[in-house]
Amino acid sequence: MSKFTIVIHGGAGTILKEDMTPDLEHAYTEGLKTAMDAGFAVLEEEGSAVNAVKAALVILEDNVLFNAGRGSVFTKKGVQEMDAAIMDGSTLDAGSVAGVRNVRNPIELAAEVMRNSNHVFLSGKGANDFAIKQGVKLEPDEYFFSQFRYDQWKAIRDSDNYSLDHTHQRLEELMKDKKFGTVGAVACDQKGNIAAATSTGGMTNKKYGRIGDSPLIGCGTYANNNTCGISCTGHGEMFIRAVAAYDVSCLMEYKGYTLQEAMDIVVNEKLMKINGEGGMIGVDAKGNAAMIFNSAGMYRAMRSSDGVEEVALYR
Ligand code: ASP
Repeated sequence: MSKFTIVIHGGAGTILKEDMTPDLEHAYTEGLKTAMDAGFAVLEEEGSAVNAVKAALVILEDNVLFNAGRGSVFTKKGVQEMDAAIMDGSTLDAGSVAGVRNVRNPIELAAEVMRNSNHVFLSGKGANDFAIKQGVKLEPDEYFFSQFRYDQWKAIRDSDNYSLDHTHQRLEELMKDKKFGTVGAVACDQKGNIAAATSTGGMTNKKYGRIGDSPLIGCGTYANNNTCGISCTGHGEMFIRAVAAYDVSCLMEYKGYTLQEAMDIVVNEKLMKINGEGGMIGVDAKGNAAMIFNSAGMYRAMRSSDGVEEVALYR
């Protein structure tokens, strides 16, 4: 049995203690801990890394505090369009969906694409049709609604601006304060298999069918048993241009860097050079974990079979 580990995130950005109330801080911490423990329980019972990341993400998607599943941000048209991806590092199998609506857990749909379709990436109405065919749980629009996200959208819907803002900031600060939503998980199971998963509502007021890095294999999500599992959060456009998740894997595979070194180069050097604000979580096949961000904070948690456990919000 090798060391097993789960790492999760709930978004990165301008997450500052002075903006938090004790209640909200408690709610975020509990939300992260519940998801982390659910993923860890799967690993403890000798479950697969794929099932562990899925279990953690379903809980984060169901939690209205995070911008994924229930509580997703609103698009320019005032609806919620969600993206998700999952990858199995033992086979390099992957499944992604983009712009799906009314799917309770987009990560479940991405897993269906991975397991039960001949494709990797489905979008829009076709992805929704596939959800119906596979019996993936759907919910009415009201299920996804949250007053906070609605107010956030109302404040900018008449402008051409879009916002990556994530949390509870005062509305008047919306335009200058950046926070990123999105949830993600990476895990290494008892057999040394790695998986990664990411799910998001994307950006408030997004339009033209905009898709970020989260569902793009190699950009926001990547897993390979030879190197690492990575899930990103941040300004998606930059993470796409940096091919961020795969770049970490390449630095490990071709240059022999450790997980920590490779993630540090991508987040603090390469992304910084193109103003790519955000962060990522990672795990390698030995169960080593890293959580690195260049923003003020990142909702994050990790737990490992050697007893190491951490839940953190700020820098
Ligand atoms: N990366 C996501 C996107 O660009 C946003 C986020 O991480 O909050 O859609």
